[in-house]
Amino acid sequence: MSKRISDLLANRSRPLLSIEFFPPKDHKGFAILGSSIERMRVIRPDFVTVTYGAGGSTRDLSPVVSEVLGKMGFSPIMPHLTCLGSTRQDLEPVADRMYEAGYRNIMAIRGDPPQDQPGFKPPKDGLLYASELVAFLKNRYPDLCCGVAGYPETHPEAESPEADIRHLKEKLDAGGSFVVTQLFYDNAVYFDFVTRCRRAGIEAPIIPGLLPAVSLSQAQRMSSRCKASFPAELAEQLEKAGGSGPVAEAIGIQWTVKQIDGLLAQGVPGVHLYILNRAKTALAPALEECLSRWR
Ligand SMILES: Cc1cc2nc3c(=O)[nH]c(=O)nc-3n(C[C@H](O)[C@H](O)[C@H](O)COP(=O)(O)OP(=O)(O)OC[C@H]3O[C@@H](n4cnc5c(N)ncnc54)[C@H](O)[C@@H]3O)c2cc1C
Repeated sequence: MSKRISDLLANRSRPLLSIEFFPPKDHKGFAILGSSIERMRVIRPDFVTVTYGAGGSTRDLSPVVSEVLGKMGFSPIMPHLTCLGSTRQDLEPVADRMYEAGYRNIMAIRGDPPQDQPGFKPPKDGLLYASELVAFLKNRYPDLCCGVAGYPETHPEAESPEADIRHLKEKLDAGGSFVVTQLFYDNAVYFDFVTRCRRAGIEAPIIPGLLPAVSLSQAQRMSSRCKASFPAELAEQLEKAGGSGPVAEAIGIQWTVKQIDGLLAQGVPGVHLYILNRAKTALAPALEECLSRWR
């Protein structure tokens, strides 16, 4: 049975490091992920997360990735679970399997409508928001720790920034224990978000999520997909370095290192890295050195 991340956060003597993995789309991707996971063991994250059905990957592979991570010694592992398009009856067996496998942490996420179904309509009695998923999970397994997503630059569908924070609070009031944020490249955006959350009565730890921009096109694509702003200064630096390749990678990593240093200086509860399954990013000397400095 895995430790609860809420306990790790409550008893931490330093900020936690977490890393997100996602299930690759094909066998080749799996082979790459396998060797990445092996090499990433040296980083010793405090917990790892595995996305569910994101980016077109099949949901069936998420448990396989979690299992591989477990076999490689990573713990605790936090599988994500999404609810849009599912009823409580659909979710019961999936959540039961996670619980019975010993996972005591689930990242409770709404998910997005399938891209290949323009007229998508959720089932009549389906769950519409992540707050309902948190309530469902906590009702079924009161000892479960649920993480939830937060959006420093506001979720694209929110009626307003204030409403988005109100809905974030609903997820926490339903039993969510901590927040992991969408990626951002300007720490001021995160600090402002935390201030607004605290003002709205949110007390839970808010872990900043960072995606090292190792390629200009990829980072801009990801940012635009998440509606996160991409600083002109970083874009210019990466462009001057050719957009991708070793020099651009070093620039992107250095930006993340600076972000981490700035975040740690302000006492964040942890840092969550979106490294897109790339051991090369996590093991880049500047980032590895930065991670080992505070851990
Ligand atoms: C840390 C993190 C992990 C993620 N992991 C995955 C993953 O594994 N798989 C995947 O497919 N996607 C994942 N995503 C993407 C996610 O599915 C999308 O961002 C999705 O659009 C919103 O998910 P949510 O859980 O934040 O939704 P919610 O919290 O339900 O919010 C969605 C929108 O609805 C609004 N809202 C909430 N409650 C109400 C209400 N009662 N009335 C009106 N409006 C409301 C919110 O303001 C927001 O605009 C992740 C995102 C993050 C930041």
